[in-house]
This record gives sequence, C-alpha cells and structure tokens, in this order.
Amino acid sequence: MSNTKELDTGYVLPTYARADVEFVSGENARLVDANGKKYIDFTSGIAVCSVGHANKRVNEAICNQIAKLTHISNLYYTAPQARAAEKIVRLSGYDMKCFFGNSGAEANEGAIKIARKFGEKEGSVKRYKIITLEHSFHGRTITTVKATGQESMHNYFGPFPDGFVYADSIAQIPSLLDDHTCAVLIELVQGEGGVQPLDKKAVQELAKLLKEKNILLMVDEVQTGIYRTGAFLASNLFEIEPDVITLAKGLGGGVPIGAVMTSKKDIFNAGDHGSTFGGNCLSATAACEVLDILEEMDTKGELQANIAYFEAELEKFYEAHRDVFTSKVGIGMMCRLRVKDGDTLAKIINKAREEGVMVLKAGRNTLRLLPALTITKEEVDEGFTALNRALSSL
Ligand SMILES: *Cc1c(COP(=O)(O)O)cnc(C)c1O
Repeated sequence: MSNTKELDTGYVLPTYARADVEFVSGENARLVDANGKKYIDFTSGIAVCSVGHANKRVNEAICNQIAKLTHISNLYYTAPQARAAEKIVRLSGYDMKCFFGNSGAEANEGAIKIARKFGEKEGSVKRYKIITLEHSFHGRTITTVKATGQESMHNYFGPFPDGFVYADSIAQIPSLLDDHTCAVLIELVQGEGGVQPLDKKAVQELAKLLKEKNILLMVDEVQTGIYRTGAFLASNLFEIEPDVITLAKGLGGGVPIGAVMTSKKDIFNAGDHGSTFGGNCLSATAACEVLDILEEMDTKGELQANIAYFEAELEKFYEAHRDVFTSKVGIGMMCRLRVKDGDTLAKIINKAREEGVMVLKAGRNTLRLLPALTITKEEVDEGFTALNRALSSL
C-alpha cells in the first residue's frame, strides 16, 4: 500500500479525495485490500460493476474476444458493436439507434450534439437552449459540467458553451421554454445529487408538453440505466418515451463504454460525430455479456428477488437507526439513507470501511448504496452486519 500511495501521491493529479485503502482483488460483492482485509462492496465501483467484480462470464467473453481482436477502428464493421446496439435497443423497448463512446460524459456530449443539430434543422429560428435541473450531474467535460446544474462545479473553467438553463424543479421547466429551446436533459433519479427521484406524473406531463412543442426529452440514464432501478431503464419505469437516452456506468461491467441512443435515427450523417475507441471489440463484448447475464436474471425473476432481499434488509437497518437516518429511498438497487448531518455521514463512511463494508456519499448528507445487481443474500447479510457494527461504534 505505502508504495502505491507514494507513487500515486507523487505522480497522479490530486483530483480525488481517496480513502486510505488499496484494493487488489474482488469476487462479486466481495473485495480484498492490499493487507488481505476483506470487505463487502455496497458501491460496485459507483454502479459500474453491475454483475459484480471478476465476473467469470464477462471475463471469459472478454478473453475470447481479445485473443482475436481488441480494436480495429470505427472505419469497419465489427460484430460485438452491432450486437451490443441491437441488445440495448431491444431491451429498451424503444425504436432507436445507438452511438458508442467511452464514458457517461461522452454519452451526454453526444446527446447535446443531437439536440443542437435537431435545433438547427427543425423550425425557422436556430434553437440551441437546453434546460437541465439544479442538483443534476451530467459529467466533467467543459460542456457536460456546464450542463450540470451545480454552480460550485463552474468555478475556474469558463468561458463555457452557451445555452444551458437551470430549472429549480421539474415544475419550473415549462416556464423556461422559449423559441430557442431545443431540448430538456434530466435524470429521472438524480444520482450524485442525492438519489432523488422525480415525480412520475410530473415527468409524464412534461414529456407530453415537450412532444407538443417539438422539444427533445433527453434522459441521462448513465447511473439509472442497465437495470439499476429494477427496470432496464428508469424511462421504462416512468413509462415515458424519451427522444434521447444516455448510458454508461453499468453497461460494460467495469470496462469503459458509454452510449447515446435516439429515436431521431437520421439526425447524424457520416462525419457528424465519432470516437476512436467507442464501442470497440473489447468494450462492446463486455457490454453484450453484461446485458445477456442481466436479461437472464430478469427473465428468471432473480433480479427482482435480489432487489427485494436488499430492500428488506435496508429497511430493517434503517428502522434500527432512526436516530441517525431521517429518510430512506430505494429504487431497485439505487438506494439512499439521508443522514441527520454531514459530519455524522463522514464518520459512518469511515467506520463502515473499518468494519469491512464499502458505502458511498452523495450530495451533502446522503449515504448511498449501489450494490452489484448480482449481490448474494450472504453478501447482503454480511454487509449490513458490518454496517450495524459501524453504527453502534459511532
Ligand atoms: C456518472 C455520471 C455521469 C458521468 O459519467 P462519466 O463516465 O464519469 O463521464 C453522467 N451522468 C450521470 C447521471 C452520472 O451518474
């Protein structure tokens, strides 16, 4: 550990407040650190390792693929990318096409380009404005950080691209629409902002209004997508038909891949958008296997059973510690407990790690749990036992 920490401190830019732990291996929801200490992982790499760590099927699929071809460029056809796109579209239930990049921010960049081109093409005036929500999170590139409705993230990096307008709530959006608005970009459950679900009825009404006004509804499902909320997409759960959807985190099971999908299938011509690595043989193969595994689990009812078990144990934990937690939200495997104050939250996260369970923070005072969708009952039990120990030693 000390050598890794020294190297990291010496050579990696300090953009992360890292916890003092170095992980070396894992299996499903279990992790082992450099000292051999074992942990239960309730974070799955921030909703990335959707089918757990070191998933045998994903690893085997990747190994078979890279023994043949890792990358060939997007100038040629490759089966893994075409198959991944077909699976994503079929599972979504929407009539769409995909573009592949490498991250959530890049997926959202694609969405923003779709919106801007749509605004150029339709109507008599150039439409360029995109409405997003306060407390949202859409990424760290110059454009997606500007799309993110958190002023604290806009220090230092301007000037930014024009045209992002923040609504304080979904109810405020209609009053912000004007002749220059081309799109609305929202998370249905705000992740980084504190695991905050939007009101389903309000979203459905907004979707209807936007359709009437020919303004795109774009849903950032980078965190909520790939069965995180129990449905393949949160958009399925909310029973809406967005024009654009972005995916990333859980899609590759840990291999970097992002996607933007849209019903505007003719929006881009050759040359309008691109990515060197996007959807290459390695990442697309990982995505295909992750999607196969999760679709099977969903069909067999295993996914819903896992969610129900986690939810029930979370409820018990919450009820046992009402002195510390003020509210609870659980949408599929996207869960949070609001903590009475930020100091207590920091203590809980540190104690939890000492006791052998990894948990996340979101917003200012939210304890966030994003376990692997494949987490077993034993792992859930061990995780909450460790969390109970952490709480009783506060
Ligand atoms: C994580 C996240 C992003 C950014 O994804 P990166 O892969 O870090 O670029 C964008 N939107 C949402 C909702 C996210 O949770």
